[in-house]
Amino acid sequence: MALDNKIPHGSISSKWTDYKDHIKLVNPANKRNIDVIIVGTGLAGGSAAATLAELGYNVKAFCYQDSPRRAHSIAAQGGINAAKNYSGDGDSIYRLFYDTVKGGDYRAREANVHRLAEVSVNIIDQCVAQGVPLAREYGGLLDNRSFGGTQVSRTFYAKGQTGQQLLLGAYSAMNRQIGRGKIKMYNRHEMLDLVIVNGKARGIIARNMITGEIERHSAHAVVIATGGYGNVFFLSTNAMGSNVTAAWRAHKRGAYFANPCYTQIHPTCIPVTGDHQSKLTLMSESLRNDGRIWVPKKMEDAQAIREGKLKPTQIAEEDRDYYLERRYPSFGNLVPRDVASRAAKERCDAGYGVNATGEAVYLDFASAIDRYGKEQARIHHLDENDAKLVYDLGKKVVENKYGNLFQMYYKIVDEDPYTTPMMIYPAVHYTMGGMWVDYDLMTTVEGCYCIGEANFSDHGANRLGASALMQGLADGYFVLPYTIGNYLADDIRTGEIPTNLPEFDEAENKVRSMIDHLMNNKGEHSVDYFHKKLGKIMWNKVGMARNAQGLTEAMEEIATLREDFYKNVKVSGTAESFNQELEKAMRVADFLELGELFAKDALHREESCGGHFREEHQTEEGEAKRDDENFSYVAAWEFKGNPREAVLHKEALEYENIKMVTRSYK
Ligand SMILES: Cc1cc2nc3c(=O)[nH]c(=O)nc-3n(C[C@H](O)[C@H](O)[C@H](O)COP(=O)(O)OP(=O)(O)OC[C@H]3O[C@@H](n4cnc5c(N)ncnc54)[C@H](O)[C@@H]3O)c2cc1C
Repeated sequence: MALDNKIPHGSISSKWTDYKDHIKLVNPANKRNIDVIIVGTGLAGGSAAATLAELGYNVKAFCYQDSPRRAHSIAAQGGINAAKNYSGDGDSIYRLFYDTVKGGDYRAREANVHRLAEVSVNIIDQCVAQGVPLAREYGGLLDNRSFGGTQVSRTFYAKGQTGQQLLLGAYSAMNRQIGRGKIKMYNRHEMLDLVIVNGKARGIIARNMITGEIERHSAHAVVIATGGYGNVFFLSTNAMGSNVTAAWRAHKRGAYFANPCYTQIHPTCIPVTGDHQSKLTLMSESLRNDGRIWVPKKMEDAQAIREGKLKPTQIAEEDRDYYLERRYPSFGNLVPRDVASRAAKERCDAGYGVNATGEAVYLDFASAIDRYGKEQARIHHLDENDAKLVYDLGKKVVENKYGNLFQMYYKIVDEDPYTTPMMIYPAVHYTMGGMWVDYDLMTTVEGCYCIGEANFSDHGANRLGASALMQGLADGYFVLPYTIGNYLADDIRTGEIPTNLPEFDEAENKVRSMIDHLMNNKGEHSVDYFHKKLGKIMWNKVGMARNAQGLTEAMEEIATLREDFYKNVKVSGTAESFNQELEKAMRVADFLELGELFAKDALHREESCGGHFREEHQTEEGEAKRDDENFSYVAAWEFKGNPREAVLHKEALEYENIKMVTRSYK
């Protein structure tokens, strides 16, 4: 089937402007008769719920936490991009657009990315108006910093808690609408199926996680805003509850899943230390503004460090390999994440890794502390040759910028990152793949929309830092609330959707029988047992570097593991009560299907691009080698009863305003 992406005609800068002026509108009186379900109230869903309610629609919003405030978005640390050019460094909408398309290795949809860059400027105004305390300079103006893959400072931030502050803004806006009765909030409710009536998404089946009750909810449209699926790897920087269930169940009802193999492995995370961890911790990319990444130049030094015989601070400057600065002189430590992650893996694979496992590199702030300290000493007419004074002054500056991140590192690793370099290693962090959506953000199921990290988004094969919050809020505040009018305008006379239709019966029965199977299966292994096994297959064979043999094996192993799961999983407790083991079991069941499609997608994409690195396709210098002639498309998969049988649909990527070239950060 040809995928109609609904991209409007016209020049790149007029596309969205003209398009939004011609979107069908629903008049205010009729909006009162229209219900919209939003599944997920993180930054994307929360902002969409508040805006749709403000416009007059009746919103029913669902989240599995006890409050929208606990969505995974709260974990976002470093910042949010916007093409405001407040730093006066030559930024523009075009540059943000260009950086994002290039950063995504020319695998993103051009018109969507331009729209994203255009509305990015509105997001900051919106959030400031809500009272979000974005960092300000001494003079009171909003401050900016740099993130990877760009040569300007366009990242707005709130210390290392940007997601939390932005989420509180969206949550306050939602609360106002809850107070007005325009949003009905269903906390602790998990969507377990999508209900389609006459080809249109008309509701969901949700489980009340406190009582175990299975509920039917109807609406004229359903918006899925349930975040990313990085937890398919078991270990990731995502919140423990992040899952693919809503998106996957919608996929099984007809929504195509796009580019599932595009995963972001973030270069600066606290390394794995053994088998006991259930989650990994991100050290924000903002740290790469000032931190320098290195490993020892000499193999014997690396070995001595691993054996605990040498400390990093004992390695002389000339014996350190600042490999990113060496390999990529123009972007240095601020190369994009995929590039930085692969470079760390390359050094560790070559034997220069530094912690006991050999899988870590250093992120060092000593020169930043020295540089800031001397600057402060000069400003305050103090002695810049006084090493202790310079250290104290420099430390204060670094503390002001990144204090909470340093504290977090100290608490987890029990080492003071001001006096010894941090140890970091890449970890799964974000998924660029997700539900395929058209320009209106509608999936291939009519009336089912998808926004935020859950859709296949605007980031192509690699997302630049600080662009996920931008996309989530662009979708939620400025795109979906308008494009959805194109669809809902035809529903003003439909009336309330009843929930006693056979389609609701069928979906509810399906959910019930899955729960019955899981609860009554007298298996012997916990859900985590299977999840960990899946994670290991994913990391070893579908992780940072992939090849055809490993991917073929992974597909087999995942299918076998899935079979074993249904025979041998044991879920304790009851279905009629709060039961986290049951919740996990249903999520892992979906990961076990997604994992296979993920490997299938990675296997079919015979090229390297962005976060997808196929060992067979690399340059002599070990850089990703794209194949634009054969793979310049979005891979959208249609479910056919089993992930292995999924059918590929291609959406060709056409660049009219950007020339596709080999991506270089040298
Ligand atoms: C540690 C960390 C730091 C990050 N820092 C940054 C940063 O500095 N800048 C940046 O741009 N990006 C950052 N990101 C990425 C960014 O935080 C996420 O991409 C973004 O917050 C996702 O928002 P979302 O609204 O799409 O989903 P989420 O915030 O994940 O929200 C998902 C919502 O869906 C609900 N949900 C899920 N499944 C169901 C279901 N079946 N039924 C009902 N509800 C469901 C949840 O309850 C929740 O409300 C970071 C990510 C991590 C992991």
